[in-house]
Amino acid sequence: MAFNSFNRDSRSRGNFPPRQMVKGSWNCADCGVEITELPFEPAQDRPIYCRECWSKKRDKRFER
Ligand SMILES: [Zn+2]
Repeated sequence: MAFNSFNRDSRSRGNFPPRQMVKGSWNCADCGVEITELPFEPAQDRPIYCRECWSKKRDKRFER
């Protein structure tokens, strides 16, 4: 079936869409390390964390 093969093809190309890195200059709100790339558009009213601090935070409980 055309639909089936189309789905399979798009799946085999990658399970997730390519990440678009946002370039800029920020500092991690936790450890203060310089951040030059983010995998998402940073929100101005929220602290920005580096990858390490993100994973640390995600290890803990997810809090708002
Ligand atoms: Zn950090």
